[in-house]
Amino acid sequence: PTSKLPDVGTSIFSVMSALANEQQAINLSQGFPDFNCPEPLMQLVTRYMHEGFNQYAPMPGVPKLRQRISEKTEKMYGYLPNPETEITVTSGATEALFAAITAVVKPGDEVVILEPCYDSYAPAIRLSGGVPVYVPLAVPGFHVDWELVKRRISSRTKLIIINTPHNPTGAVMSRQDMETLANLTDGTDILVISDEVYEHMVFDGQEHVSALQLPSLRERSFVISSFGKTYHTTGWKIGYVVAPPVLTVELRKMHQFITFCSVTPLQLAIADFIENEAHYRSLPAFYQAKRDTFCELLQSSRFEIIPSAGTYFQLLKYDAISDEHDLDFAKRLTKEIGVAAIPVSAFYHDKTDHKYLRFCFAKGDETLQKAAERLVKL
Ligand code: PMP
Ligand code: GLN
Repeated sequence: PTSKLPDVGTSIFSVMSALANEQQAINLSQGFPDFNCPEPLMQLVTRYMHEGFNQYAPMPGVPKLRQRISEKTEKMYGYLPNPETEITVTSGATEALFAAITAVVKPGDEVVILEPCYDSYAPAIRLSGGVPVYVPLAVPGFHVDWELVKRRISSRTKLIIINTPHNPTGAVMSRQDMETLANLTDGTDILVISDEVYEHMVFDGQEHVSALQLPSLRERSFVISSFGKTYHTTGWKIGYVVAPPVLTVELRKMHQFITFCSVTPLQLAIADFIENEAHYRSLPAFYQAKRDTFCELLQSSRFEIIPSAGTYFQLLKYDAISDEHDLDFAKRLTKEIGVAAIPVSAFYHDKTDHKYLRFCFAKGDETLQKAAERLVKL
């Protein structure tokens, strides 16, 4: 009776990883690499720990890290944010999203979110008294129908949340998409959260277009990234937000009472390692090769391969194999053939089932091979 989110259960990522462990299945469900982060990065962490950097960091983040994020942002997107007033380090993108949403959403405010979408957006909106307005991405292809978005905008719209490259579909927004969003919000009070945690995982020569590259979008946006994705360190939970000073002030009011600050030695280590440009520049080719390996191994399967343009996820459509609901199918696959995936219905508020499973290919080639051998038998 006291639940504030009565219809919310345990996250699908916890559910499927637990089932995978219980069944000793190959876990391609929850998104995380099964390989280690770069050795020098780990050495930096232990060095900083031994040098005594084990107490609270400054609330907005270690100054050196914010400085380096600023420089990297300019290198990548041609915009140099002020580290003092426009950059905040958070405990993962999850905290960044929660802080940004709770900082601006008031009771009765509407927030446009595009489905399928990451599972943490709607609960944060609802806890703030806001109303999620769900706009489906076009199936197949998962592109944004901007006309539909426009029709769902009202005088109560406070915020639009986008995610590119997109979890779970792997769709990547084009410059045209970002310009359309910029035009749609220009001259309004609508704010934007741009969830860009997979910014370094875009394939086939395409480029990630950041909200930071469009001045009229930048001035109304919280742009969120995560070092967990970029450095194969999802367990470190270090992310950050770039936002204009007025929005950063409000964001930090939340951040200071959610966690106050993030882990000090990890921030210092990342601040040094960020200078290693070769690491993040190599990620598109690295993950594209994994996607291609996985997809080639599945050519002879009965799954339909939905082209993934970015992220470390691959959607497979299984309607030629089964007409089960995707959650049932995902659980059965885990138990019977020993491969765990995420049912995409978990990313729809009404659990709409389009017969897709999401597979994480951030795994060693042997693991991908073993999983594919099992999947082609279906
Ligand atoms: N947004 C999206 C789209 C994600 O896929 C993830 C990672 N699961 C997050 C946010 C959260 O990132 P973090 O692990 O840094 O909290
Ligand atoms: N972002 C990861 C995914 O989509 C999981 C994050 C989590 O477990 N909360 O699989």
